[in-house]
Amino acid sequence: MSFELTDEQALTREAVRQFADTAVAPLAAEIDRDHRAPLENLPAMAELGLFGMIVPEDLGGSGAGSLSYIIAVEELARRCATHAVIVEAHSSLCCWPILTYGSPQQRQAYLPDLAAGAKIGAFALTEPAAGTDAASLTTSAKREGDQWVLNGQKVFITNGGFADVFVVLARTDPEAPSAKGISAFIVEGQSAGLTVGDPERKLGIRGSSTTPLIFSDLRLPSDALLGQEGQGFGIAMSTLDGGRTGIAAQALGIAQGAYEAAVAYAQERVQFGKPIARLQAIQWMIADMATDLEAGRLLCYQAADREERGLDFAVQASMAKLFCAQMAVRVASTAIQVLGGIGYTESYPVERAYRDAKITEIYEGTNEVQRLVIAKSQLR
Ligand SMILES: Cc1cc2nc3c(=O)[nH]c(=O)nc-3n(C[C@H](O)[C@H](O)[C@H](O)COP(=O)(O)OP(=O)(O)OC[C@H]3O[C@@H](n4cnc5c(N)ncnc54)[C@H](O)[C@@H]3O)c2cc1C
Repeated sequence: MSFELTDEQALTREAVRQFADTAVAPLAAEIDRDHRAPLENLPAMAELGLFGMIVPEDLGGSGAGSLSYIIAVEELARRCATHAVIVEAHSSLCCWPILTYGSPQQRQAYLPDLAAGAKIGAFALTEPAAGTDAASLTTSAKREGDQWVLNGQKVFITNGGFADVFVVLARTDPEAPSAKGISAFIVEGQSAGLTVGDPERKLGIRGSSTTPLIFSDLRLPSDALLGQEGQGFGIAMSTLDGGRTGIAAQALGIAQGAYEAAVAYAQERVQFGKPIARLQAIQWMIADMATDLEAGRLLCYQAADREERGLDFAVQASMAKLFCAQMAVRVASTAIQVLGGIGYTESYPVERAYRDAKITEIYEGTNEVQRLVIAKSQLR
């Protein structure tokens, strides 16, 4: 890997890899099979500091920086994509907007608990009729005296089943042009008027709790507004810019895990009197996978590094997400090919990697959306 890591970043990789190997890997197949969240691992993840990596030290986090955080997500995903997305949605989609747009009071009220993993965060933008076209969302927040009253429905909310804090996007001005009338709110998980629906049964990341949320006259204090009234769409879009690097890292980790399983198998499996790794056909697959991983890692780390250094990184994040998502599907598919028939069964983690990889092409902006962002930057 030609991207130079600092000692701290290298230590983060080592610590999270060890945790993933010992505590995450043994649970990964079971939570996938049972479609259940790995709640028993959350305290240990909190202990390791995984929920506070992008939160500064004065707010209870470690302030480890974007690249260390990305490495942690990658290492979790190498063993289990579900564990990775729990941390990613919590950090990139909930901690980040509160840190960036929250008032000093909001930051103090939420970030220390979120950073400690005492509370888990989530982000609620998507609705049944507003996916890619997020600006058409219809969940409403109406001002009544000094309160906001929330009504509407969200779908596909990661961490929905157990989150304590939601960043929710709602329409506050029905008269304003679509994106302009949207505001962001901080909603607590136990609020009266919030119903969390049943988790979706999914192709992959089956342990990740993906739920609908229904708001029925949910009353919020005026200070639940995050940022300025009407700023919500911008908050959501900038949140997703950072999130995309996180999903690129998830895809990278899924691909890395599948690749390692394929290399190990190729060295053990004997056909025609020798390990299949000695067949040029298999070597070419390994070469392609290794090259894909290197390219994806460079793109992903570059986006995170730019973010950490305060440079524009939105286009690089879209490129990283687009490339890594497609690369993860490709690498996981090739890994199954290397294993042959046994790769198609649950005996090895490569079939799970293949199923898990697919979501990275869809959430936090589909491949098509990433291409729109990239093309726009090129055609300016
Ligand atoms: C497991 C899972 C977890 C998720 N977690 C969250 C979460 O935590 N919070 C949250 O708010 N949302 C979440 N989502 C929602 C996710 O971000 C959306 O599913 C995604 O943005 C796509 O929206 P959609 O499903 O409505 O598809 P649609 O927008 O209906 O798109 C359907 C197809 O049309 C294409 N398309 C749409 N518009 C265009 C266009 N202008 N140009 C080219 N192609 C286009 C899309 O690329 C796609 O191929 C999650 C979804 C899943 C499945």
